[in-house]
Amino acid sequence: MRFPLALTLKIASTLLRNRLRGVSKFATVLQLEPLHACNLKCTGCGRIREYASTLKDHMSLQECLDAATECDAPMISICGGEPLIYPEIEALVAGLREQKRIVYICTNALLLRRKLKEYLARQFQQNAAKYGPLIDRLVAEELISPEDAATIRQGPKDPSKPIIEPTKWLYWNVHLDGIEATHDLIVERKGTFKEAILGIRMAKILGYQVATNTTVYKETHMPEVEDLLTYLGSLGVDGHTLSPGYDYSDAAEDMIRTGKGRPEDFFLTRGETIKKFTDILKWSRDYPLLGTPIYFEFLAGKRDLSCSAWAIPTRNVRGWRGPCYLVADAHYTSYKELLEKTDWSRLGRVQGKATDPRCENCMVHCGYEPTATLGIGALPGDTWKNIRFNFGPKPRVKPREVNAYNGDK
Ligand code: SF4
Ligand code: SF4
Repeated sequence: MRFPLALTLKIASTLLRNRLRGVSKFATVLQLEPLHACNLKCTGCGRIREYASTLKDHMSLQECLDAATECDAPMISICGGEPLIYPEIEALVAGLREQKRIVYICTNALLLRRKLKEYLARQFQQNAAKYGPLIDRLVAEELISPEDAATIRQGPKDPSKPIIEPTKWLYWNVHLDGIEATHDLIVERKGTFKEAILGIRMAKILGYQVATNTTVYKETHMPEVEDLLTYLGSLGVDGHTLSPGYDYSDAAEDMIRTGKGRPEDFFLTRGETIKKFTDILKWSRDYPLLGTPIYFEFLAGKRDLSCSAWAIPTRNVRGWRGPCYLVADAHYTSYKELLEKTDWSRLGRVQGKATDPRCENCMVHCGYEPTATLGIGALPGDTWKNIRFNFGPKPRVKPREVNAYNGDK
């Protein structure tokens, strides 16, 4: 299966429960942004610009946990900003697991190995016989240094601090926009790709599930994305999300202001997205892509879908962002208020036309993936397609030579 059975059943039970109760709008995934500070400044990132005046703020742990309880989404995607900077990230993950949520930590992975070393220090203290050889293996594979190994063997600096443990309910979701040269160019820092790959390899050895997310921009060379997926397959990465880079205002305005280029040369229009994603259905058979075949058909321009942004709400330091992850007209005090005060009928495309011009070029998963998951506007055969996709075998990536390290030496 592409996704562990227990997780698929958890999501399915949320859909069923709400259907039986007659609830038409509910959350399937919460995009939780406990902070917007980041250790990178990627081209095209709207978050660090839009929330520039509140970059020093962060949500309290209790606010984060209450947001999950309030919207009751089965899956929580902790994003930001860079969530590994959030001072209580370990306690947040532990709290969400106590609530029995599926947790994704969306990270640029610059701090991933640090978190994994903290985990190892705790584990070594409790079971040196098991973790000693693992530490030796990490040194041999140059994923940690001999000095790191010695520090890990001394045990945790703060034994009372929680750690993030591997479980089938948790994914590290690493941001990678291409192989080395492209990724480092987009995130505007050399060495980022190498560090992310070291983190991924170490996480896999320690038994974590790892996914990646890749945004496709106008200049993205799609065969390169295929190379990236092949390379990540060789590292045992469990799943991938591919998203079209859509021109939302803050990212676009920042590009103009900083003279980094023209947004129209960087972001995709709807027609360009469809061209880029023309092979997505084939890719979904060849690689463990996360999503639904219905959404992939939408990306490939084979069908239209309506927007269900209410199903993937965003909660951050200012409140519940509305109407969606991309567009902010207001921040509300509760999920209920976001649902009630947003005129959902005016968003997305209605009968092939966008009534709100900001939705014209949007085909992103936070608007359209839930439409496919929830079967809104489903066509005959869609349910069977989804079942076959989710319960069928996970694709085995065909190995081939890929030069992922093509950046400056
Ligand atoms: S890593 Fe993520 S949050 Fe940080 S600047 Fe890049 S896109 Fe934005
Ligand atoms: S179509 Fe896109 S931009 Fe418009 S409301 Fe939906 S998710 Fe937001």
